[in-house]
Amino acid sequence: MEEKQIHNCLILGAGPSGYTAGIYAARASMTPIIFTGPQPGGQLTITTDVENYPGYPEGVQGPEMMEDFRKQAERFGTVVKYEVIDKVDFTGPVHKLWTTGGEEIQAHAVIISTGASARWLGIPSEEKLMNKGVSSCAVCDGFFFRGKEMAVVGGGDSALEEALYLSKISPKVNLLVRRDEMRASQIMQDRVKKAANIDIHWNTVVDEILGEEEVDGVRVLNRLTNEKTVLPVKAVFVAIGHIPNTQPFKGWIDMDDQGYIVTKPGSSLTNVEGIFAAGDCQDRIYRQAITAAGSGAMAALDAERYLSEKEIL
Ligand code: NDP
Repeated sequence: MEEKQIHNCLILGAGPSGYTAGIYAARASMTPIIFTGPQPGGQLTITTDVENYPGYPEGVQGPEMMEDFRKQAERFGTVVKYEVIDKVDFTGPVHKLWTTGGEEIQAHAVIISTGASARWLGIPSEEKLMNKGVSSCAVCDGFFFRGKEMAVVGGGDSALEEALYLSKISPKVNLLVRRDEMRASQIMQDRVKKAANIDIHWNTVVDEILGEEEVDGVRVLNRLTNEKTVLPVKAVFVAIGHIPNTQPFKGWIDMDDQGYIVTKPGSSLTNVEGIFAAGDCQDRIYRQAITAAGSGAMAALDAERYLSEKEIL
């Protein structure tokens, strides 16, 4: 029987972290293969203008930037496969992975960079106005609506951080909190309450985001009084949490209670030898393209060191 090929390095996920890991790994002769997963390009493919990624002085469209990343990774020999890995066996030392089609792939090193997905409200108007004033990232998109009234949905640290950020560029930020208390840390709550231009709407949920081609208000529902009100906002930032895309790895590597992969501080090392994690699947705080790319570089360097120490490379 033909012996199965054991690859040096597989990279799971094709966002900024996965492609950057590909660039570094290919240049280090690790012959990496990227399995893109279900959303090649990751979260940036549902963004429009990216203005905070260094190297693009005029800004760039999210999908275009991800194309650039892919081309750069391929230029050095990274193979990009548009397939999904949905099952793994990390008993090791050789790691086994399966595509949704049932093909088994083996590798010495695996870099998990499967990202996270923003949690959305799930109402039709939200989907219709996505990128037309509806966003899940104030740092990315807030600037486009500076000087205008805005709304932020959520009562966690992310929502409050977004509200505080926006309060510096907007005359009025409406924070929509669905209960009569917030989940966010006390210090963040104190800061938000102190901000003169942040209006907290308690027990309030989004009923409908208004507008056809762009956001032109949000109709909110007070859950106690059943009263509906229209707020004249031009942007709605949904910050109700993220879901790390780590389901297939559950039980194989250490994760926190929300499913984020635990890495050794200052590295991409997981608790399993030869398995590395980069980008949003292991980062619940920063979640930026630039930080994801940085951690992708770290993961490739860590994987290279691992393969060298094992005398595989
Ligand atoms: P969280 O899960 O902490 O908070 C989600 C918030 O969204 C909650 O207020 C929740 O309400 C609300 N929510 C959920 N679903 C809906 C819905 N359908 N409609 C309206 N509201 C909804 O997520 P975060 O992203 O804020 O934070 C994730 C983790 O990251 C936390 O541990 C947080 O502390 C951490 N973090 C830390 C930061 C920092 O230290 N600088 C910055 C950002 C995040 P309810 O409470 O009713 O469930």
